Amino acid sequence: QCPWGAPNTTSISCSLADVMSEQLAKELQLEEENAAFPEVVAVAEGPFITGENIDTSSDLMLAQMLQMEFDREYDAQLRREEKKINGDSKVSISFENYRKVHPYDSDSSEDEVDWQDTRHDPYRADKPTTTPRKGFIGKGKDITTKHDEVVCGRKNTARMENFAPEFQVGDGIGMDLKLSNQVFNALKQHAYSEERRSARLHEKKEHSTAEKAVDPKTRLLLYKMVNAGMLETITGCISTGKESVVFHAYGGKSATEDKVIPPECAIKVFKTTLNEFKNRDKYIKDDYRFKDRFSKLNPRKIIRMWAEKEMHNLTRMQNAGIPCPQVVILKKHVLVMSFIGQDQVPAPKLKDVTLSSEDMKKAYYQILNMMQQLYKECNLVHADLSEYNMLWHDGKVWLIDVSQSVEPTHPHGLEFLFRDCRNVSQFFQKGGVAEALNERELFNAVSGLNITADNEVDFQAEIEALEKMNEDHVQNHGKKLSMFSSDGDPPIYDE
Ligand code: ADP
Ligand code: MN
Repeated sequence: QCPWGAPNTTSISCSLADVMSEQLAKELQLEEENAAFPEVVAVAEGPFITGENIDTSSDLMLAQMLQMEFDREYDAQLRREEKKINGDSKVSISFENYRKVHPYDSDSSEDEVDWQDTRHDPYRADKPTTTPRKGFIGKGKDITTKHDEVVCGRKNTARMENFAPEFQVGDGIGMDLKLSNQVFNALKQHAYSEERRSARLHEKKEHSTAEKAVDPKTRLLLYKMVNAGMLETITGCISTGKESVVFHAYGGKSATEDKVIPPECAIKVFKTTLNEFKNRDKYIKDDYRFKDRFSKLNPRKIIRMWAEKEMHNLTRMQNAGIPCPQVVILKKHVLVMSFIGQDQVPAPKLKDVTLSSEDMKKAYYQILNMMQQLYKECNLVHADLSEYNMLWHDGKVWLIDVSQSVEPTHPHGLEFLFRDCRNVSQFFQKGGVAEALNERELFNAVSGLNITADNEVDFQAEIEALEKMNEDHVQNHGKKLSMFSSDGDPPIYDE
């Protein structure tokens, strides 16, 4: 008897039944996939796809993305050629009209790409020999006629050279590609329609503002939204700010019945560059709603939190009936909301619109009311309120840009509110609204607090003292005061 006990001889066996069932599972899955993407399977029968069928569900999207990547490189080369030709001559030639890039496709990186001009590729094979007049070449059983599939396919490949010069057909001859007539015709059709599309795009010069667009990951996100039919089309860029890019889109169909997608949407893409997010640190770091999560997050996730914050804040405002964009959907760092404006034209910012003195007064009282609502009902301070973030639409003011908004008990919440009040007060006082409260009166009217200091320095000191008191309370009691105590109802202002 072995002192270590009987050796365990049972080995892990794999029965035939197991293997079979695994195969069965695979088959079932394939069947399911085929049912889900029937049209993709049809495409897969084409001559280009050989071997295994690797996740073709997103082939169209991948192709589009590759095309965009190519277009971008093409344009970069064009820019270099343009620069070379113009040198430092006073009169310059623009190649603008030869550009390919979709308005919302490109990203701003001007980085030099290793670009190979395939048109002068020395390794390219010569064109195949054509079939002579007699209609066949070769001898005996090696004879081939012009109808031969292989020859015909090669010819089709060669004929692609006749497409518009800017249409890159790749090295089909070099790799001895044989195109069936059907495929060739489809490609020809595509070449024509691409040419037309390109011409159409160049007509709309204003779209080129979208040049400063987005990174590939974001592009894919946007593509998916369009592919899913949620968005009809993304027409172009409305604004490129330091921290976000905003696009206009026409809304599509909603997947669920209960949700209606507005006819026009604004897509706010929060920028994922790291140097910018630092500026926003102080807003979110101390926002207790996000406190637990902040420390554990990487920068990319923090950017998503900004988008999430904007969504939550907009929802609160919506519930309070404050005019603001309505949230449609949030995907990572991309927030889709309703568009304030019409026919692709965004509503003007308050700073850009000239209002009659009557409208100006109306706007002032409306903002006063909204600030109070925001504070009391939404428990929020805008924290970036100014004539830049208020739009004039439909005879009233709409509040936007609330990703940085915080609750009043935020360690700097009252300071932010005071800054908001200063902006609003100054704007309307300069705008000739005699009734406009000064910043300190406005602050008290919005917060319901009663700070009596009659100069800015003392006022601010009192605000900071209040904030500190609240912080101490948190230290001692582990929770915030529900809100700063207000004595009585806030004053109601009306026209
Ligand atoms: P930023 O942080 O870059 O200032 P904003 O949210 O203020 O971001 O958006 C930038 C600009 O985009 C705004 O000034 C406004 O002109 C436009 N914009 C943003 N959201 C909308 C919207 N829902 N409807 C119409 N225009 C919008
Ligand atoms: Mn803004």
